[in-house]
Amino acid sequence: MTALRSVAVFCGSRNGHAPKYREAALELGAGLARAGIRLVFGGGRVGLMGAVADATLAGGGQVIGVIPEFLEQWEVAHAGVTELIVTDSMHTRKTRMFELSDAFISFAGGLGTFDETFEILTWRQLRLHKKPVLICDIGGSAAPLVNLIDSAVAEGFAPADAREFFEVIEGVPALLGRLARLEPATATTGTERL
Ligand code: AMP
Repeated sequence: MTALRSVAVFCGSRNGHAPKYREAALELGAGLARAGIRLVFGGGRVGLMGAVADATLAGGGQVIGVIPEFLEQWEVAHAGVTELIVTDSMHTRKTRMFELSDAFISFAGGLGTFDETFEILTWRQLRLHKKPVLICDIGGSAAPLVNLIDSAVAEGFAPADAREFFEVIEGVPALLGRLARLEPATATTGTERL
């Protein structure tokens, strides 16, 4: 079995109100480092994205940040990462994150996290890739997003198999367990159609 080498984490540039989100982000980063899985993330040092990156680095893991030039100052780029890739646009950022990752984790976050999650699911729906997408539920955090997708299926706006584009995993220990059992997708298209 081939192990995953690299995973992208989509998560908030804010911490959220409840401490459980930051705690879970730190647990995820530490777990990725332990598993030897490289973290690909949005490149900022703020909020949950900064927490995942800090914890991965603290555990001795590899971290690649991908940040668009215009956000470098605003989102406060993380200076300590293994590699920081600065892109010319948000679109190039997403494409680079896609290329660099064997799988995607949608973690707690806001509009940017939703956008990144939906884009990767849309690319999956369009059969542009078969890379695994794991939505991590932290005490109910994923329910509104999953309900939205279920409602689109029920109303006839999404294919009946939309639920097969992603897995919902409850909590970080189960998420890390699932990552350990995943294999990288064998056949993916190039990024020219993204
Ligand atoms: P948020 O969940 O809104 O805190 O954003 C989390 C990440 O998504 C950050 O790295 C943002 O730069 C990124 N982001 C914010 N808005 C967008 C957007 N419209 N499209 C893609 N990414 C975004």
